[in-house]
Amino acid sequence: MSQSDIVGMSLANHDNTQDVCDCAGCDKPAERSLNIKQVAKTSLKLKDPGVRQVHLCKEHYKAYKKESKTDRELDAYY
Ligand SMILES: [Zn+2]
Repeated sequence: MSQSDIVGMSLANHDNTQDVCDCAGCDKPAERSLNIKQVAKTSLKLKDPGVRQVHLCKEHYKAYKKESKTDRELDAYY
């Protein structure tokens, strides 16, 4: 995403608060949005486990990807 996209988005969505990472204790801006079902499989702790769509910052998305990859590798043994 380019810098101008970010500026344009915040102007267009001025009535929405900017999405923040949904992980507990994290207040970084969200970069990705995932279904709760995908995130529930990982050990990521959420501020609100009742949400349907989970917003993750860059770092937590990396952690998510790492864990979901591990899951797939484990699945291969069954
Ligand atoms: Zn985060």
